[in-house]
Amino acid sequence: MTGNGQTRGSVSPPPTPIYLDNHATTPIDPRVLEAMLPFLTGKFGNAASQSHPFGWEAQSAVANARSQIARLVGASPGEIVFTSGATESDNLAIAGVAEACQAKGNHIITVATEHKAVLDTSKHLEKHGHNVTYLSVGPNGLIDLEQLEDAITDKTILVSVMAANNEIGVLQPIAEIGKLCRERGVLFHSDAVQALGRVPINVEEMNLDLASLTAHKNYGPKGCGALYVRAGVRVDPLIFGGGHERGMRSGTLNVPGIVGFGRACEISLEEMPEESCRIASLRNRLRDKVLAELDGVLINGSMDHRLPGNLNMSFLHVEGETLMTGLKDIAVSSGSACHSDKVEPSHVLKALGLSDEAAGSAIRFGIGRFNSEAEIDFVASRVVEAVKSLREFSVSSD
Ligand code: PLP
Repeated sequence: MTGNGQTRGSVSPPPTPIYLDNHATTPIDPRVLEAMLPFLTGKFGNAASQSHPFGWEAQSAVANARSQIARLVGASPGEIVFTSGATESDNLAIAGVAEACQAKGNHIITVATEHKAVLDTSKHLEKHGHNVTYLSVGPNGLIDLEQLEDAITDKTILVSVMAANNEIGVLQPIAEIGKLCRERGVLFHSDAVQALGRVPINVEEMNLDLASLTAHKNYGPKGCGALYVRAGVRVDPLIFGGGHERGMRSGTLNVPGIVGFGRACEISLEEMPEESCRIASLRNRLRDKVLAELDGVLINGSMDHRLPGNLNMSFLHVEGETLMTGLKDIAVSSGSACHSDKVEPSHVLKALGLSDEAAGSAIRFGIGRFNSEAEIDFVASRVVEAVKSLREFSVSSD
C-alpha cells in the first residue's frame, strides 16, 4: 500500500464525469474569468457612454479586446464587429451580404456540411429569391475546388465555407478557396468558430472577407461572438438601433463577455502551437487505444485535414445514442450538439456518404485544453468495454 491507500502500481481513475464535448462548448479558462470579473462588478460602464470615466473604462477595455481578437486572426481591430455569438455572425455575414449586394447578383455558394446557422440562413434566402448552390463533399469531408470553381457564375456574390467542421473536425482548404474567390471577384465568408484558437487563421493569407467567431468554443464566455468584416466590404445590418459597430450591429456591447473573449484570444495566440500538439497526441492516443481493441470502427472524415482535438468514430452494430447512455460518466455527443435534441442521422455524416446505420452509430469526441492523459485512457477503456458489451448483447438477443 502507498501512503494514500492505493495498491502500489495501481492508478486511481480520474474524477468523473469527464468532459470530452469541447466542440459543443468549452469551460471558461480561469484566466479569462479573472479578466472578466471586474467588468461584472465595479467596472460596469456602458462602452457607448462618452461623457464619464465609467464609459471610458469600458470603451478602452473593448478596444483592447478588439485588438486581442484581431491579432489572433491577422485582422485590424476596426474590422471586428461584436455580435451575440456565431449564429448571429453567420446570419449577419450571409443575409447582410445578400442584401448589400443585390445589385450585383443573387447567387450564393455554400457546402452541404455547414452548420445549421449557415444552411438555414441560406434556405431562408432561397425563399426570398436567392439561388444557393450546396457543394457536396468527398468521403473525407473535403470539398472539390474544381466543383467550386465551376459553380461560380457572374451572379455569384458570396462563397461561404467553414474552416473546421463541428462534427468531424475536417479542415477545408481555406487559403485555396480564398485565392479562387479573390481571383473571381467574389466575397468569401468562413465560419471559423471551431478553428479559432485551435489551428491558425489569418484573414490576409487566406483572403477572407468575412469570418464568424465565437468566444465559448475557445475557453471564453457564452453569448459573445464577432464577425470579421474586411475594411471596405459592405454588410447590411440585421439589427437596427444605436448604430454601434460601424452601423452593422446595434445594441449595447456585452463588455464582460468581450473582455473575456479578448483574453481568451490572447491566451490562444501564445499557447496554440504547443497546445494543439498536446491535444493532437491525446486524440491519437484515444484513437489508437480504441482501434487496438475493437473491429468494425470507422473514422469519419479525413485524419490528415482535421482539428487536433476531434475524433468522430462510428461503432458498427451499436446505436450511438445507446452507447452514450452506457457512457454516463463521459460527456460526448452522438451528432452535432447544436441540434442534438432531434434524433436524426447527422446531415454531415450523411453528406460523407455514410449509411443511416453507420451515421447513427457515430460518437464525436472533442478533446480540449483541460483534458489529461489519465482521462483519455479511462475513456478509451470505457468505450471499448461498452461497445463490446452492447455488441455481445445484440448477438445474444438476435
Ligand atoms: N458555427 C459552428 C461551426 C458551430 O459549431 C457553432 C456552435 O455549435 C455555431 C456556428 C454557433 O455558435 P454560437 O453558439 O456562438 O451561436
